[in-house]
Amino acid sequence: MKRAMTLSYETGGDLYLNITNRCPCACTFCIRKNDDGAYGSDPLWLEHEPTFEEMCADLAARDLTAYPEIVFCGYGEPTMRLGFLIEVAKHIRRVCPGAVLRLNTNGLTDLYNKEEALADGTDAAQKLCAVIDRFSISLNGGDAAVYDRVTNPKGHPAEAYDTMLRFAKAVKAAGREVRFTVVDVISPEEIAAAQARADALGIPLTVRAYIQ
Ligand code: SF4
Repeated sequence: MKRAMTLSYETGGDLYLNITNRCPCACTFCIRKNDDGAYGSDPLWLEHEPTFEEMCADLAARDLTAYPEIVFCGYGEPTMRLGFLIEVAKHIRRVCPGAVLRLNTNGLTDLYNKEEALADGTDAAQKLCAVIDRFSISLNGGDAAVYDRVTNPKGHPAEAYDTMLRFAKAVKAAGREVRFTVVDVISPEEIAAAQARADALGIPLTVRAYIQ
């Protein structure tokens, strides 16, 4: 496994931010299983999680106005560093007020950040909606059984699917742009069930091809 301090990288014209390698899931399709990077990037396994100063220095070397979207994605689940993510998003808003910020997430932040999120009386969805424009949430299946098989959530597996759905509903209710994703490692019937679930919530679904 190669490690580096690749804190940002370009894909499809957008800028992706890599703030953590931690994740409470083990998705069967996770790109981290097959490579050290993503879409030709330098290694995304971090030597250490970046400090705020390291992240700001990395961003300062970029022309942030050049990217249609700046995406918190990473080689891990960005909301594992909820407070850090929000501080970096605020920083980007300060230095590049026109930036469009997207979060790619498993939507499980309430499973592992509840206390931190609620310390000031606002939950994670509220905090994130204050700084993030668009959300891409891993639906991964039309029901909890398929979801658990694909996602392998650790810690509170019985609550994971409903937690993710609640997060998606909260983000949508807050008026933010949100979409679900599934990867085609599930059967056509299971994709159809995921589509029905997404339709019932009024959230568009993107079916992504599995990348070896
Ligand atoms: S949530 Fe994302 S980083 Fe975590 S295992 Fe799944 S695909 Fe990989």
